[in-house]
Amino acid sequence: MNDGNGMSDDCAIIYSDAYQKYELSPWHPMKPVRLLLTAELIRAYGLTGSEDGNATVRVLEPRQATDAELALVHDKAYIEKVRELSVPGARDADGMSWGLGTGDNPIFEDMHEASATIAGGALAAAEAIMAGELAHVFHFGGGLHHAHRARASGFCVYNDVAIAAASLKQQHDARVLYLDFDAHHGDGVQERFYDDPRVMTVSFHESGRHLFPGSGFTGQIGEGEGEGYAVNLPLEPGTTDEIFLKAYDDLVPPLARAFAPDIIITQNGCDAHWDDPLTHLALTVSGFQELARRQHRLAHEVCGGRWLASGGGGYQAFSVVPRAWTAHTAAMAQVELEEELPEGWRRLCRERSGAEAPRYLTRDDQPPAIDRATLDRAHDAAAAATMEIKQTVFPILEAG
Ligand SMILES: [Zn+2]
Ligand SMILES: [Zn+2]
Repeated sequence: MNDGNGMSDDCAIIYSDAYQKYELSPWHPMKPVRLLLTAELIRAYGLTGSEDGNATVRVLEPRQATDAELALVHDKAYIEKVRELSVPGARDADGMSWGLGTGDNPIFEDMHEASATIAGGALAAAEAIMAGELAHVFHFGGGLHHAHRARASGFCVYNDVAIAAASLKQQHDARVLYLDFDAHHGDGVQERFYDDPRVMTVSFHESGRHLFPGSGFTGQIGEGEGEGYAVNLPLEPGTTDEIFLKAYDDLVPPLARAFAPDIIITQNGCDAHWDDPLTHLALTVSGFQELARRQHRLAHEVCGGRWLASGGGGYQAFSVVPRAWTAHTAAMAQVELEEELPEGWRRLCRERSGAEAPRYLTRDDQPPAIDRATLDRAHDAAAAATMEIKQTVFPILEAG
C-alpha cells in the first residue's frame, strides 16, 4: 500500500497456531481462542491470504526468542525456573517466589516454549520493521506487559514488548517510544526502562486505586537520567472514548514530537472495553479503531511509519476481542470494512463459544447509560492528570 506521499507502507500481522499453546489453564480468563478468532476474522474479511495472492496484510510467523534475548529483560535464574516448571509433572510450589504457580499465573506444559515464541514474535516484527521490509506489524498475541525481571505477573511470563524494546536499543541504538493503552498499568515495561531516557514509556490505564497492579500514578515519571521519560495517565471507571481520545490528543502527539523516536511500540490491549469482565472503563470498538488511526498517523509523522503494535488484555474472547483487533488491523492497513461480520466467521465463533455470535464490527456497541456523576468524575480525573503531566514532564523534555 501507499500512504499518498510515496512512502512504502507494507503491513503484516504475526500469528501461528503455536500461540494456542499459551493457555495458562482451561479455566483461565485469558483464552488463546481469542487470538485464533482474531486471525480468522481478519482472514474472513479478506485482509490476508486472498486467492489471487494480493493480500493487503501479510502474515508473518513468529520464531522462538533465545535465552540471550530473554535475558535482555529477565534474570537467567528466572528463565531457568520457567523452563524447569514447563515439563509435565512439575510442582507448582517450587515457583511461588517467582510468581509461578499462582492463581493468575498457573504453570502449564511447554510454558517456556510458548512464552519464548511470543517474545520471538515481537522480535521478528521489530527486525522486519527495522530492515525496512514492513512499516507496520500487528502482533496481537503479544503485549505481555506485566512480566517482571524475575517474576511472572498478571498472566505474563516473558515480557515480549520490553524484550523487543531492549533489543531495538541494543541492536539498532534505537530510541523507542512505548505507548500502552491496556486497561491495566504497563508496570513491567515501565520498571525495565524507568531510569532510561532512550526508551520512553507512556501508559493510559484504569487507576491503580481500583485495579491491578495498583501502580501507574501521575507522580511516577522515571528516575535518574530517565526522569521525564515515564508517563502515567490513571483513569476513573466510566471513562468513555471521548475522554480517552481527548487525553491522547493532548498528551501523546506532543510527547512523541519532543521525544523523536526511531520506532513506536504500542500495547493495544482491548480490556478497556465497556463489556470487559475484569475492568471498569467504557471504551467501544469504534474508539479502539479511532485510537489505532491516530497511532498510525503519529508513526508516519514522527518515525517514518515504523510501528510495532501488540495485543494485550481483552477478556470477552468471543464478542469483543476479535472485533477490536480486526478494527485495529483495518486502521493499520487503511481499509474500510463492511459492518456485517462475515457469516463463516460467525459460525466458527458460535461453535467455539456455544453462544450467539456478534453481528456487527462496530455498530450496536454502546456502553449502558453512565450516570452524570460518574461521567463528570471520569472527565475531571483525566483533565487533572493531563494538566499535571504537562506541568511535570513537558518542561523536562523541552529542556532535554
Ligand atoms: Zn501507514
Ligand atoms: Zn489489561
